[in-house]
Amino acid sequence: MKFTFLGTSAGKPTKKRNVSALAFEVENESGWYLFDCGEATQHQILKTPLSINKLKAIFITHLHGDHIFGLFGLLTSRKLDKCTLPLKIYAPQGLEDMIRAVISVDELGYEFEVVEIYGGFEDEFENFYLKVLPLIHSKESYAFYIKGKSKYKLNSKKLQEDGLMPGIEYKDIQRGRDVVKNGKIFKAKEYVEVIEGKRIIIAGDNAEPDILGKYLKNLDLLVHEATYTSKAFEKLETKYLHTTAKNLAITADEYGVKNLIATHISPRFEGDEILEEIKEYYKGNAFVANDFDVFRLKDLLIKECNLLGFMI
Ligand SMILES: [Zn+2]
Ligand SMILES: [Zn+2]
Repeated sequence: MKFTFLGTSAGKPTKKRNVSALAFEVENESGWYLFDCGEATQHQILKTPLSINKLKAIFITHLHGDHIFGLFGLLTSRKLDKCTLPLKIYAPQGLEDMIRAVISVDELGYEFEVVEIYGGFEDEFENFYLKVLPLIHSKESYAFYIKGKSKYKLNSKKLQEDGLMPGIEYKDIQRGRDVVKNGKIFKAKEYVEVIEGKRIIIAGDNAEPDILGKYLKNLDLLVHEATYTSKAFEKLETKYLHTTAKNLAITADEYGVKNLIATHISPRFEGDEILEEIKEYYKGNAFVANDFDVFRLKDLLIKECNLLGFMI
């Protein structure tokens, strides 16, 4: 699984950070998925190897402007590029009316559908299952829980050693079926290694990370907002419904989250202060995302590169 951060700022863009957007790719699958689409997301995409034409679906966490204002331009550019790949947008109630008020959806030239999401909504994609979890924010906001499909690896060396030569039976065993050949039983569970799919959460704006509860338990990766440090939050006259680095770190640590990426950083911070506070309370593998950071999740999450480095 690969994650390219296209926007990591909260509320408004800064010189270094654009507003929320995250590209998600799965190994051996063509095309990619977009989570949130803040203003100018299509400009950010142009600076990466990602192609708007290969975008398969968009997931919107909530209808605040810093998460959706980029949709209208992106959808229209796809039309100008004469893209024919169908596009689905998964979003809370109200997005379809907003889009139809701005652009002529019927003239886009590609199949377009808005699917309304709600807490508990589930769907299946080529390589993962998705479940929508409710969050606490000033607008209906959601997290996307993603479970990669398990892979089944056949131990053909062991099969041959035990006397079953390559043939049609190999497919049956890989699918979990026991096979009888020449009077001998070959039990699938003895020859197939199950590689469990990774479990991740990409969350929208949220005031209380522990609302994600059991889904956080030993999670492989949590991508969550950390808009403020706790010190800055304490000084705020109006307490907005966002998470502090401290609060996120304590929750992630308590549930044994293995990898953590904090994003949606208030324009007042560089990002280092947020990471410092997270590391005080969280023992796992933590990052604060910058625009154009590329992460890859294998057993451990690694930061592969920052695409800006390649552009200069
Ligand atoms: Zn936001
Ligand atoms: Zn918001």
